[in-house]
Amino acid sequence: MEALLDPTQTQAPDKSALRTWGPLALILVLAALPFLPLPDFWIIQLNYIGIYTLPVLGLVLLTGVGGLTSFGQAAFVGIGAYTTAYLTVNTGLSPWVTLFIGLALTGLSAAIIGAITLRMSGHYLPLATIAWALSLYYLMGNLDALGKYDGILGVKGLSLFGFEFGQQRLFYGVVWLFAILAAFAVIRLLDSRSGRAIRSLAGGSQMAEAMGVNTLRFKIGIFVLAAMLASISGWLFAHFQRTVNPSPFGLKMGIEYLFMVVLGGAAHVWGAIAGAGIVKLLEDQLQVLLPKLIGTAGSYELIVFGIMIVLVLKYLPDGLWAFVDRRLPRPRRSVDWQGARDLPARARPAAGEVVLDVQAIRKTFGGLVAVNDISFQTRAGQIVGLIGPNGAGKSTTFNLVTGVLGLTSGAVRFRGEAIGGLGARQIAQRGVSRTFQHVKMVADMTVLENVALGAHLRGRKGAIAAMLRIDRAEERALFREAERQLQRVGMGEHLHELAGNLAMGQQRLLEIARALCADPALLLLDEPAAGLRHKEKEALGKVLRQLRGEGMSILLVEHDMGLVMDICDHIVVMEFGTHLMEGTPSEVQGSDKVRAAYLGTEH
Ligand code: ADP
Ligand code: MG
Repeated sequence: MEALLDPTQTQAPDKSALRTWGPLALILVLAALPFLPLPDFWIIQLNYIGIYTLPVLGLVLLTGVGGLTSFGQAAFVGIGAYTTAYLTVNTGLSPWVTLFIGLALTGLSAAIIGAITLRMSGHYLPLATIAWALSLYYLMGNLDALGKYDGILGVKGLSLFGFEFGQQRLFYGVVWLFAILAAFAVIRLLDSRSGRAIRSLAGGSQMAEAMGVNTLRFKIGIFVLAAMLASISGWLFAHFQRTVNPSPFGLKMGIEYLFMVVLGGAAHVWGAIAGAGIVKLLEDQLQVLLPKLIGTAGSYELIVFGIMIVLVLKYLPDGLWAFVDRRLPRPRRSVDWQGARDLPARARPAAGEVVLDVQAIRKTFGGLVAVNDISFQTRAGQIVGLIGPNGAGKSTTFNLVTGVLGLTSGAVRFRGEAIGGLGARQIAQRGVSRTFQHVKMVADMTVLENVALGAHLRGRKGAIAAMLRIDRAEERALFREAERQLQRVGMGEHLHELAGNLAMGQQRLLEIARALCADPALLLLDEPAAGLRHKEKEALGKVLRQLRGEGMSILLVEHDMGLVMDICDHIVVMEFGTHLMEGTPSEVQGSDKVRAAYLGTEH
């Protein structure tokens, strides 16, 4: 009910209609263009823009959203183009068959290259894509079978049942049908369970893996999808130009695709299409204009593009579309999940069962022993506090328990199972969920979407289901759960706000709701009350007590001693990585050792 009364949801439906009707208007305009008395030149330009739109849409997913930079998209366009050119010319296969052969070849190459390079972090991927773009270019240029630098001539145009599409208005229909379908596929994908996982990739893998997202798989997935979009573009290109040669598939074009996406607005589908259009039209104008101005022939437009890239990156990092996007109202998800089914839930541990058993765990960083043979236990229906001065090793202990860091020695058992050697994702799968001392969320997703990411492991639907929109029942169930957990931590009024706009305390509550969405048996909270106001702290204490009542086991790192002493059943005190003492709140409060540690005096 509260969600229905939420003022943010009933406000100005006519304005948000712009988001729905805008794309429709664009499609109508695109559909009307070939019927207008435009000169053929402009139809051909629009065909090029449509052909460029496909790899650029792939880059929206890969670079704009996923944060992975590839200079090699033109090479994937090349695979699509050469496959269809070679096979249609030499074997007489129909282009409608070679389209799929090209897709399979491109997808396979991308999966292999992705599996090798996407494990590496930082600059390795861009460098690897440059190497890949260069080697494929020279391969295309040196293979006799592919006609070396002259390429393959005499590629047929597209036809269907003997009906020729030509190079103008009918071809325009084919190109833009693919482009618009791809645009909607990407938009739908981004608004789904897989999409939220993809959107979490750019922030580093730690949070995503802790939510159970297989980050490597999703990275390879968007790499392959982007490559396949490029492959379709290459197929269109070959049958449009009727000839292929290596030059449009080299590194220069790979850079140009990146420029299109950066200029338009890397994370926006419509911005990317605008970017493709602007770059193509600008390039044509500059190619004519610049040699005239300078007085000699040459590819001077590249210099202008180079300067523009730097300027855009510096002054317009979100691209041109950001201007439009800022003026459009935020999309509001209509609340349609009230009647959704429950998500699958985990079998709860019996009251008093040892949930977490930490045995002499140790972590060294170089010479520093950050966690020095720490042991403790937490039971179902118990809140255990882990306290100690800054630098005592509390967060490192969390990272060891949740698999973010590997153990130097020692053992961790969760519900009787040794989880010491497991990764963060496997540990999350078993029912351990956590928050981070330094909040980690996807700033440009709504609060609701961020929290739904916490329920990632409780959903099944993948990318294809999302693109076909057959994931809606599960989406409703995920959002219902996300809203339920947000209501529980007192964040029910902020469902549709962008997470990045929240105050610090609210961000922490978001993280708790997200962790609860995973239906954990053990909840690890790293300084959840930092930045919370007094009232919010009281509410947090109430929520934690309620969770304990439901049999949840909670491990709490917190500096607010009032809260710790109030709600903890048992407290472990750490200092300089070592176990100082443990006991009930009153035993800890009465301890001279603890007082000395906190006051920094010798003991
Ligand atoms: P706490 O959470 O109790 O404040 P931490 O666990 O964050 O303490 O840190 C314990 C010690 O380990 C500190 O001296 C810190 O500088 C060091 N440390 C933590 N993480 C790392 C890391 N990834 N690399 C090197 N040193 C680290
Ligand atoms: Mg810490």
